Amino acid sequence: MVERLGPPLPAPIFEELAIIGVGLIGSSIARAARRRHAARRIVLADRSVGALERAKALSLGDVVTDDPARAVRDADCVILCAPVGANEAIGRAIAPALRPRAIVSDVGSVKGAVIAALKSVLPHHARLVPAHPVAGTEQSGPDAGFASLFINRWCILTPPEGTDEEAVAKVQAFWEALGAHVETMSAGHHDLVLAITSHVPHLIAYNIVGTAADLEEVTQSEVIKFSAGGFRDFTRIAASDPTMWRDVFLHNKDAVLEMLGRFNEDLTALQRMIRREDGDGLFALFTRTRAIRLGIVAEGQETAQPDFGRRAAEGEEPAP
Ligand code: NAP
Repeated sequence: MVERLGPPLPAPIFEELAIIGVGLIGSSIARAARRRHAARRIVLADRSVGALERAKALSLGDVVTDDPARAVRDADCVILCAPVGANEAIGRAIAPALRPRAIVSDVGSVKGAVIAALKSVLPHHARLVPAHPVAGTEQSGPDAGFASLFINRWCILTPPEGTDEEAVAKVQAFWEALGAHVETMSAGHHDLVLAITSHVPHLIAYNIVGTAADLEEVTQSEVIKFSAGGFRDFTRIAASDPTMWRDVFLHNKDAVLEMLGRFNEDLTALQRMIRREDGDGLFALFTRTRAIRLGIVAEGQETAQPDFGRRAAEGEEPAP
């Protein structure tokens, strides 16, 4: 399995790449694109003074600006990397400055709503190739990014019908240069798949951590002290960026509510199994779910080390 970015490409895929939003994802793209020479020049824009200062200090791009229109004016590819809810305003701001036939892509965790928003504000000549790298951490900001973030992760492209094929091929080649595997699907299907694999799990984590925080019979210090019993792993997810996740739920409302409905039905069935002391039912479900975990490890999407490799990271030998 490939774990390092390859050598610089013989020729860059893009002459000038503009990245709007230099947080975890935007800065990781900038780092990986520079390492692989996937773009000849990289221009970065953000509205946050702190992010711009860090981007300059870390030399993440050739130009760093607070003006998105200025950032895109010579770009043959623009990638929007701000929270999903900001895309429409950014699209409106960059629209008059875009070069003819510039590729406009994004990294948003929701696709249907983002495509609708961008289509309503971008000029007709712009070639929209929406993308979602299914990779990330619970950290935010330019310092949290790293060049290897996308290696062996999936990047899903959701080009609307009729999108120029050359533009799709270029975006695909770009993500492959960053180490990702690329799959193409419709925006609607993407939003349904991600609702169950990412959005609902985040909601469950936010909920359980919130419930524990509100308990009266169990003290906060007990919750923290005994967190290794499972709670700790939920707190990692529940520490994810509030702005980003607020926008995800507001923009993927239908798919999330659909999956949440099914989740609630299954939870009720589990409740019934416990009440009726249906040990066989519980055992059968837990056996099935364990197999899913093994499948994820076999696909290289997670470490097989016990405890998520924490013991190894802390300098201990992982258990055999
Ligand atoms: P992040 O670390 O919080 O960075 C986002 C940056 O965008 C911040 O510096 C933010 O500035 C800036 N920004 C917000 N509104 C802006 C605007 N109107 N114009 C210019 N810059 C603006 O976020 P992230 O984790 O990289 O996530 C970015 C996108 O990637 C989101 O759409 C998310 O859905 C997607 N994504 C995230 C992950 C993940 O695990 N984090 C994974 C895959 C995809 P302020 O701080 O001032 O708001």
